[in-house]
Amino acid sequence: MARPRILRKNRLAPDAEELLLLARSLAMSSSRLEDAFWESRLSEVIDRLLSCNDDESLNAALDNLSKTDSRACDVLADTIESRCESRPVGTKGEQSSLLIAAPVLAWSRYSIPAGQIPADILSNIRVQLSAHVLASDVLLGLADVLFSPDQLPQGFVDCAGLNDKLVKSALASRDLHIDVGQLGQTINFLSDTRYVVGVVIAKPGAPLFRWQEADGGIAMRDQAALRWREQGGGSLRPLLPACAGEALLPMAFYSACRDADRQSRPYSIRASVAFLGTTVNIEANQLSAVVAPFQDNRIDEYRIGFVHKTTGDLVHGVVWPLLDTEDDNETPAMVEAALRECGIGDIKVIGHTFPLEYCDDCGTPLYPNCDEEAVHAELPENNDMQTPQHLH
Ligand SMILES: [Zn+2]
Repeated sequence: MARPRILRKNRLAPDAEELLLLARSLAMSSSRLEDAFWESRLSEVIDRLLSCNDDESLNAALDNLSKTDSRACDVLADTIESRCESRPVGTKGEQSSLLIAAPVLAWSRYSIPAGQIPADILSNIRVQLSAHVLASDVLLGLADVLFSPDQLPQGFVDCAGLNDKLVKSALASRDLHIDVGQLGQTINFLSDTRYVVGVVIAKPGAPLFRWQEADGGIAMRDQAALRWREQGGGSLRPLLPACAGEALLPMAFYSACRDADRQSRPYSIRASVAFLGTTVNIEANQLSAVVAPFQDNRIDEYRIGFVHKTTGDLVHGVVWPLLDTEDDNETPAMVEAALRECGIGDIKVIGHTFPLEYCDDCGTPLYPNCDEEAVHAELPENNDMQTPQHLH
């Protein structure tokens, strides 16, 4: 367990200070050879902190660098993530593990399931992963849970821990059983992401994915994505009854999560338009969209209000969160493009920012309407559906 540290204000613990210096040195290195030198020393410190469950020092160093040296911050974040998702296997590190995630974007007018994956379905997922995504000689271990975002490992230590447990199971030719009762609560959204998580074990330098093999390449990667979307998506479908789903290409854990976060934003617009069309018969050409930035200290997210053209009522809304390192200025154009792809041509982009406001009663975000006010979305009353949203 991490020892409690008594720190003077603004003073970093020695471990965090060491991370900071090594990350800065790595960021300033001028050659691959020097990179390797600093990387190896940085990795040793990170591995030691992970083994003492010390997320605190890792986060303190990242927090400090995010304010003082963004290049070194990126380098440190990359190295920490890489140590969590790729662990040496065997006493001499004869093999390496790579934690992978297979995200699926889904939406449902009811609720999107998460939780235990029955053995036969997990076995089908394994067959599809091996057939279309993974290199032929790797060892694969899967966790028997369809994770919601709140159930994924939340810190670096948890992530490395899940990796280690998956490796242990995979080496014993078992999938990892996880007690879903120990995982976080799943919050219900109209559209959301679910993840299958596993570990791939191979000798260092050997191919991990299908497209790294001798006949591989970029075209093979595209083909793998397409086949996984069809065949892998098919193996996941029984887990998501009454949902529409889209299986994304499985990748290393952190990249997969970031890719899913990025792709889930236009997906949630598509889901909303499909939802309004199928449940309250409001088609895309009957909708106007109002887009505005909402902020706390800086711009945190854009919110999109869907307004029924005939009644002028705000019938639905979607949040488009900004991701790390994204340029706020490019976001409205990305949102507009996603709306137009869904057939919404009447789009109003509001330039000024709104405070991050939520409904006092149900906590749902308030969305911009055509009068440039942030209001509560209300679906038309003559519908008989059960929706995941609280309506009042
Ligand atoms: Zn409310």
